[in-house]
Amino acid sequence: MARYIGSVCRLCRRENMKLFLKGERCYTEKCAVEKRPERAPGEHGQLRPRFSEFGIRLREKQKVKRMYGLNEKQFRRYVEKASKSKDETGKMLISLLERRLDNVGYRLGFSSSRKEARHFVRFGHILVNGKRVNIPSFQIKEGDVVEVAQKSKKVDRINQSVESLERRGFPDWLELDKENYKGLVKKLPEREDVTIPIEEQLIVEFYSRV
Ligand code: SF4
Repeated sequence: MARYIGSVCRLCRRENMKLFLKGERCYTEKCAVEKRPERAPGEHGQLRPRFSEFGIRLREKQKVKRMYGLNEKQFRRYVEKASKSKDETGKMLISLLERRLDNVGYRLGFSSSRKEARHFVRFGHILVNGKRVNIPSFQIKEGDVVEVAQKSKKVDRINQSVESLERRGFPDWLELDKENYKGLVKKLPEREDVTIPIEEQLIVEFYSRV
């Protein structure tokens, strides 16, 4: 599946909610969703259509897939993995997505977006338990220590991001040693730890129908 290269703000406007895809801009009044919340993207900014039952489920799936920056094949794999777990599929799906190393880097404040975190992981700026891990989808475990590599502590984007972490909020399942750019995974993330409104059951229903 081709990677989307258009405006990411357009994706938020399509889902009519902030997906936080553009770093610091998302927390300012320049955010496109804040400016034109009730209109869908497009030249004429049509009012939002009513969705069918299928459309509602499709939109929920697209929303979460875009939030975590995944393509269809990758996202489907997470749904399949979650469905094999003994826990509720929807809840497990969100937990698996949160455990991705790029997401953990973002949550710890080492980047201002998941996309940027993915870039930092790929370029070897992030260590897990002292070892360089350059796989954004790497799943963290309870007790893991995720930190910025010594040389990368001088990277401006990482510094700026750590400094502005407070206004983005910080999850309870992580602990940050800000001075040393080091985070501890206190426990694995659960559904309740993700405060963004997601109706995961709709996603499970979407895949049970297609
Ligand atoms: Fe979405 Fe961020 Fe653009 Fe706002 S600024 S529309 S949250 S990507």
